[in-house]
Amino acid sequence: MRQRLAILMGAAALTASAFLFAQRQTTPRPTQTRTTQEASNTECPPGQTEVRAGRCQAPEAAPPSILDYRPKSTLVVDEQPVPKAKFPVVDIHSHQAATPENMARLVGEMDALNLRVLNNLSGGSGDALKRHVEAIRNSPYRDRFTVFANLDFGGFAAGWGANAAAQLEQDVRNGAVGLKIFKNLGMTARKADGSRIPIDDPELDPVWAAAGRLNVPVLIHTGEPPSFFEPPDYTNERWLELALFPSRRNYSPSQVKFEQLITERDRVFARHPKTRFIAAHFGYHGHDLKRAGALLDRLPNVYLEVAAVLYDFGRQPRAAAAFFTKYQNRVLFGKDTYAPSEFPYYWRVFETADEYFDYYRDYHAFWKLYGMDLPDVVLRKLYYENALKVTPGLPAAGWPRP
Ligand SMILES: [Zn+2]
Repeated sequence: MRQRLAILMGAAALTASAFLFAQRQTTPRPTQTRTTQEASNTECPPGQTEVRAGRCQAPEAAPPSILDYRPKSTLVVDEQPVPKAKFPVVDIHSHQAATPENMARLVGEMDALNLRVLNNLSGGSGDALKRHVEAIRNSPYRDRFTVFANLDFGGFAAGWGANAAAQLEQDVRNGAVGLKIFKNLGMTARKADGSRIPIDDPELDPVWAAAGRLNVPVLIHTGEPPSFFEPPDYTNERWLELALFPSRRNYSPSQVKFEQLITERDRVFARHPKTRFIAAHFGYHGHDLKRAGALLDRLPNVYLEVAAVLYDFGRQPRAAAAFFTKYQNRVLFGKDTYAPSEFPYYWRVFETADEYFDYYRDYHAFWKLYGMDLPDVVLRKLYYENALKVTPGLPAAGWPRP
């Protein structure tokens, strides 16, 4: 009972919806402490664990909740923290606005990490975007910050696409070096008639075509981790995250399915071969690198960036290193949330062969990370060379020559 209570209390997190979420998760705790099960492939009932083949047992002490169980590793191995990346880095997926007030502070933090360029994906459009770009150009840091434009799906009906393409053209003329599509496209963005805007809606075609013509990439965030589309039962590896953040729950029958979103997205990629697309968060295929490879094999205009899915590479370091080596011309560095303390986790996974170390966010991953030990030639491409190739508007001078 105490285990259930602890999980309930932890997940309740002071909000009514979270409490309801937790309530739905409770399973009856068995009254007996021991049972014997014949079939070895049957799982033990809740509250028990398999202590010998086919034999389940409940612990004598009340088990802690997943929030309170924090085992300290006794493993003694070499550690190589990497506070500063080995080569200069373009963070193609950032949301840190370069305002005159905070640019000097940002540059200090970036230098310590070896972050050379921070690309703000939240540039907006029209006058707002123009002001963003001008703030950068009027500062001493014009080679350190860049901006992508965004779309406004308001009034989405016949004719919207032509206007949006014209707006993008104007935004690029005003200094945007790419277009960022947020995850609302396909999930929550609505047409004027109230229906969902599919990612492959033909009304969007003029925009994708314009990006190709203007020679700017489209960084597109589609969907969420597949686990967010699954019921949050106790087998869901993102249970805690779903319990913490109501907005990430996408498993209700009325919501669009993961495979539907990916199908729509890939149709756009295929329909616009002259437009370069960067799939944010590795297209949410970081846990399934065969699928990621098939996507890249089929669609040469597609690139993958690594923001916020480090936990998937760090739990399969050998397969991930093989993938990054095979597809070394197709991977870009991105971080998403700007937090200086978190970047070194990326450097450590990509650059070292360290073993069994923590990730920076417990609720993302209930597992440890391992280093991929990538060779320099791959690191350079991942950190800046591919970004420069895919995004011609990035500052071109001052990069190291291999
Ligand atoms: Zn983002």
